[in-house]
Parts: sequence; structure tokens; C-alpha cells
Amino acid sequence: MSDFVSELMAQVKAKNPDQPEFHQAVLEVAESLSLVYERHPEYRSAKILERIIEPERVIMFRVPWLDDQGEIQINRGYRIEMNSAIGPYKGGLRFHPSVNLGILKFLAFEQVFKNSLTTLPMGGGKGGSDFDPKGKSDNEVMRFCQSFMTELFRHIGPNTDVPAGDIGVGGREIGYLFGQYKRLRNEFTGVLTGKGLNWGGSLIRPEATGYGSVYFAAEMLATRGETFEGKTCLVSGSGNVAQYTVEKLLDLGAKVVTLSDSSGYIYDEEGITREKLDFVMELKNLRRGRIKEYAEEFKSAVYTPADPTLGYNPLWDHKADCAFPSATQNEINGKDAENLLKNGVYLVSEGANMPSTLDAVKIFLDNKILYAPGKAANAGGVAVSGLEMSQNSIRLQWTREEVDNRLRQIMQSIHKTCVDTAEAYGTPGNYVNGANIGGFLKVANAMMDQGVV
Ligand code: NDP
Repeated sequence: MSDFVSELMAQVKAKNPDQPEFHQAVLEVAESLSLVYERHPEYRSAKILERIIEPERVIMFRVPWLDDQGEIQINRGYRIEMNSAIGPYKGGLRFHPSVNLGILKFLAFEQVFKNSLTTLPMGGGKGGSDFDPKGKSDNEVMRFCQSFMTELFRHIGPNTDVPAGDIGVGGREIGYLFGQYKRLRNEFTGVLTGKGLNWGGSLIRPEATGYGSVYFAAEMLATRGETFEGKTCLVSGSGNVAQYTVEKLLDLGAKVVTLSDSSGYIYDEEGITREKLDFVMELKNLRRGRIKEYAEEFKSAVYTPADPTLGYNPLWDHKADCAFPSATQNEINGKDAENLLKNGVYLVSEGANMPSTLDAVKIFLDNKILYAPGKAANAGGVAVSGLEMSQNSIRLQWTREEVDNRLRQIMQSIHKTCVDTAEAYGTPGNYVNGANIGGFLKVANAMMDQGVV
């Protein structure tokens, strides 16, 4: 670790104690940026990274609501407005009991670089609540969303801050949030993305993160003259990102054998077909059930409950070529990374944000596999959110083909930026350096132009 990185990390830890995920995200970026600072000391003297790690604004608020029994419930709401150097704050809302300030700051920090990589004019932000939508009725979710927006609405706007979905926030929640915003503001604007198709949403937005992660992976395979035809893939999660990752992998001729939720995972040795994926979509998006039911429905699958005492996740311990972590942060540790390599995996594309621990990332890089960090691989979601904003501004809706083509071009462009930048900074094939440096330069130059603000 260079002196710059160790001094920076000492400050970050002292100023932001109890935020391990934020420390982890900053450390990964700071190590890549050491390469930039050797060549461009002007960024260091302008304290660009020190400024980026301090959010422009943090909003925390009470979210009171009434449950179906008439009892008062209180959650905490957050919005981190991290960086607006290249556009309005943009990033999802996460509703999950694990949500806290440190997790949202790591996500907002990553979002700054990711949004820059998309080539679209979007700053970085993130928000959410420790509210758990699991087991809540639609009415409870609606009342919670309305209360959340009753405070958030004064801080956001189509030219200020444009939230979207993330874990626990899908079409249903975006609908309730948008309805309340519209009522409070008395205006119909593109203030949220991931909206329904009949009221300002974009085609391909639900599919975008998963499809984008597979498009990025296809570009990586192409550098070795390969395609997905016949490849065996491990996918974790069974939510929005996981579902559309599986769909696109099937389109491209791959075989997918796993899916999971926080209770456990299924391994289907015969592969998840389109019909089985339809079952998963109905199970997760409408019935809001558990992935265990997949193995009850399809006898070729085995369900294994999650066991946190194991110290590793057996989902990553199956023979395969490619892995698509698409559930949550730190779901692949060092042991899991070793298991992946031992089983033949040589491509990892992160649909989730920061799903690999720093130990796991080091193992992937040391072994020179095709490893795409989340800020590059899952940028398709926010990219199509950016396209949704454009469509709202011009009051037009593009076709499915048009949006999908733009998504594919954006993923190709991010891939090229990563490859070219990694090469230019003397670490060819290192997509971590490519994404961190490629994302940083545009933001840093904008900040230099705009003075000390
Ligand atoms: P969903 O809420 O639709 O699905 C999340 C999935 O991950 C569920 O299967 C969930 O299981 C599982 N999961 C969540 N938390 C945990 C946990 N602590 N341990 C184990 N499993 C867990 O979310 P998304 O699919 O939208 O998001 C998945 C990942 O992708 C996140 O890291 C998110 O930040 C990232 N991402 C999402 C984007 C988007 O457009 N939606 C864009 C870019 C990144 P369970 O139901 O049991 O909780």
C-alpha cells in the first residue's frame, strides 16, 4: 500500500468509524488511483479523491407509518447526494433491514464512478431505508412509501436528484413513490426511473442491469475469441438482476444451474429453462415466495439452505465456466473465490454491487481471470435509467430495439474504456483499474473545471 493510500485510509476510518463497506469501496478505488497520481499530481494537490469521499449532502429522516393492525412503525430514511460534478445525483433506493449509513455511502461512492463510465451526464447518489418489504401487505408497503416520499420529495427533482430502484425497491415501490411525489409537487416529471410503461417508464429498464452484465461478459469472452454457447453459469440472487441475467444467458446459448435468495440456493443440474424462469418470475415478482419452492416444483433441482457458520457459500462450489453474483455485497469471500477457480470458473461478472471481498478480488486478479467489477458490469441499469430521463425530457418513448441497441453500445463502450485505460496505466486485462480510473478521470476533470465547491 502506498503512503498516499495508507494516510487516506487512516483518515477515512477515523472520520467514518463503523462503516466497513465504505472503507472497502474507498480502498479499492484509492489503490487504482495511485497509478493516476504518479502521472497527474495535480489531482492529488486539488484533493479530488478526498473531496469525492465526502458526500456533498447526507439527508437522514424519520419515516413513521401505520401497519395493518393500526400500530405505529418507525423506520429511518436516507438519501446520500454524493457527487454532482457531471450531472444530477442519480442512484437507487434500497429497502432492506441491513441498510445503514455506511452501506449507502459505499453504494453512493461506487455510483459516482459507474455513472461516469456510462458516458451519460449523471452524478452519483443512493438512498433507502431499513424498512423490510418482506411479509408486508401491499397497503403497508404503500403507506411506507408515501411517508418516505413525504420527506424525500423536498430534496429531489428531475434536475437535482433522480432516484431509482435497488434491493427491495421494484416496480410496485416506484409506483407508490412516484404517485406521492406527483401529489405533493403537483407536477408530472421524470423524477424517478424504473417507472411503469404507461406513465413515463422506458422499455428494457427492468431487464437492463441483468442484460448489461451479460453484454459486458460477452465482450470479455470475445477478447479470447469465445461466446456463451454451451457455457455453464452460476447465478446468485433471484431478484430483478438475477432474473434478467438468466434470460439473456439463455438467449446466448448458455446453461444456468443456480439461483438463490437469503434463505438458500437451488442447483438444477439440467439447467434453468425459459419455462422454469417464468416460474421464478411469478414466484418472486407476484407471489413473493422463497426460492426453495423451485426445488419443490422441479425435481431436477436440489435446495440447500443458507448456513452462515460454514464460512463459505456452497453455491460457488459447482463445476462451471462463468459466475454472475447478482444478490448483494460481499457474497463471495476468499474461500468462495478459490472454490470458483478450482471448479473451472474463469469469468466473473458482478451484477450486484461489490459482491466480492477484497481478498476475493485479489485472487481473481492474481489468477488473471476475466473479472468485471460491479461498477462496470452492472452499469447497464443506471444507463437505461439515464435513457429513461432523456425520453421523459423529450416526451417520447423509444422502441425496445432502440433502447436495447443503445444499452448494448453503452456496455461495449464501458468495456472499451476499461480495457484501454487498464492498458494505458500499465495493467492490461485489469478491469478493476480500468473501471476505477476510467470513471474517475471524467469526474476529476469536471471538478477541476468547477473550482473548490
Ligand atoms: P432484488 O431485491 O430484486 O433482489 C435481491 C436478491 O438478492 C434477492 O434474491 C434477495 O433475496 C437476495 N439478497 C438480498 N440481500 C441479501 C443478503 N443479505 N444475503 C443473501 N441474499 C440477499 O434486488 P436487485 O436484483 O435489484 O439487486 C441485486 C443486486 O444488484 C444488489 O447488489 C443491487 O445493488 C445491484 N444492482 C441493482 C440494480 C438494479 O437496476 N436493480 C442496478 C445495479 C446494481 P431475499 O429475497 O431473500 O432478500
